[in-house]
Amino acid sequence: MKGITILGATGSIGLNTLEVIKQHQDKFKVIALTANRDVEGLNALCLEWLPRYAVMADAQAAEQLEQRLKRAQLPVQVLSGKDGLIKVASLPEIEIVMAAIVGGAGLVPTLAAAQAGKRILLANKEALVMSGQLLLATVFKHDAELLPIDSEHNAVFQCIPPSHFNTTYDHSRTQLKTPSALADSGISRILLTASGGPFRHYSYEQMQTVTPEQACAHPNWKMGPKISVDSATMMNKGLEVIEACWLFSAQPHQVEVLLHPQSIIHSLVEYIDGSVLAQLGNPDMRTPIAHALGWPERISSDVKRLNLAEIGQLQFELVDFKKFPCLQLAYDAMLAGGTTTTILNAANEIAVQAFLQKRLRFTDIHRVIETTLSHLTGRIVTQLDLILEEDTRAREFATEIVNQYSTTNYH
Ligand code: NAD
Ligand code: MG
Repeated sequence: MKGITILGATGSIGLNTLEVIKQHQDKFKVIALTANRDVEGLNALCLEWLPRYAVMADAQAAEQLEQRLKRAQLPVQVLSGKDGLIKVASLPEIEIVMAAIVGGAGLVPTLAAAQAGKRILLANKEALVMSGQLLLATVFKHDAELLPIDSEHNAVFQCIPPSHFNTTYDHSRTQLKTPSALADSGISRILLTASGGPFRHYSYEQMQTVTPEQACAHPNWKMGPKISVDSATMMNKGLEVIEACWLFSAQPHQVEVLLHPQSIIHSLVEYIDGSVLAQLGNPDMRTPIAHALGWPERISSDVKRLNLAEIGQLQFELVDFKKFPCLQLAYDAMLAGGTTTTILNAANEIAVQAFLQKRLRFTDIHRVIETTLSHLTGRIVTQLDLILEEDTRAREFATEIVNQYSTTNYH
């Protein structure tokens, strides 16, 4: 039995993870579940799963949860805040940490899991975007493992030679691979597929008036609100380009984006001999979750079988970078290096939150990020406190820009 902590258990990835575990209760034991402030949600999960620990990031929510669990006479220990998250990410009795908190809040507990040498199933892409170098160095140093849950990266992971992956069991390696790493493995490029989100057919002008409800109605995936908006602006694909560069030792120009509206091919790897390997499946996150939970073995996921004859056609298109400026911003930030991607991520989180609260137009999201990036310069730093400092600085700056836009533009 492998003990598991699910960070962000009440979210879309967290719940899908529990769906897979439900089918393999002989293999996995849920030891800890966490959430931000959804007392109702975490209480229900505690009743069902009886974990040893439940953590609420919010202290007040933790108190409420504790009272409810006491009333129900459940022997669950309730913890709160960052310390609680760090504790359950590094418990000696767990082997696996599902990192499924959304946004920068996931970085510190994910790093704690790396420091404790755990198998990390990484859904929280923002952690890598904020601090790729630091997170990978920590993984190597402590013999941890980092397996991608993001469907595209999980697909690439399944299509690259095992020796290429940045976190194979190579205990002697403490550094990131060289710039020629991809070519050394015979790979010429990585193609990340993108559905194009709900506004694929919209003009830029039409996108100016879209609402959060429209942005969150993704055609193929049911996900949390932040990543849904990221998919609509295509910043999600931008964050994924950065994520791929770190996970697979790629240069930004070696990672290309291909629009594929059906989301059946989850990504492709092209080799120098002309071979292209792809991973296919119905768009259901339980597949990459089961893959990473079981790896290197395969375990069932209860995902509907792919029926290509029924689907009939798979389509592909190039991305229009002018319509989706966030994608270019992400490529540029990765090229600039250092904490430029930390700044990109921070400004994006602030802008997306403002859009979700109807304080900012959809098409002002990229403008907030652009303005923040043009005023703040990234630095080459790898210490956590300095990265978090940059993150805070960028959030403060982006908040000011949002306030300017929201008073002048939104109605
Ligand atoms: P979600 O909004 O559905 O869930 C987020 C979870 O994180 C919840 O449990 C919430 O309580 C917790 N949380 C939020 N803010 C927190 C904070 N400040 N401190 C502690 N916990 C906090 O999000 P999701 O769609 O499940 O996405 C989670 C992560 O997985 C994101 O990084 C996302 O990019 C990534 N991801 C999601 C999908 C998907 O299909 N949903 C696919 C690929 C990658
Ligand atoms: Mg993805």
